[in-house]
Amino acid sequence: MRCLAYRASRKCSNAWTACKNRAEKNSTFCQSHIRMICGVYLGLCVHGFPERKDVRRPEESATPAGSKQQ
Ligand SMILES: [Zn+2]
Repeated sequence: MRCLAYRASRKCSNAWTACKNRAEKNSTFCQSHIRMICGVYLGLCVHGFPERKDVRRPEESATPAGSKQQ
């Protein structure tokens, strides 16, 4: 079975091509992609998930704008 992941194209920076590596035993990804995924998760676990600045928190949306200054 082939790896399910895609690789960034060498020809075009916005294109992706299917990974041609064989999936590891008992996995749907090749060894290279398994290591990449583990590296990403390790980074998120060590440094925490970055907050999105465009997402409002529930307490912020319930408070009228400018009410903290009054
Ligand atoms: Zn792969």
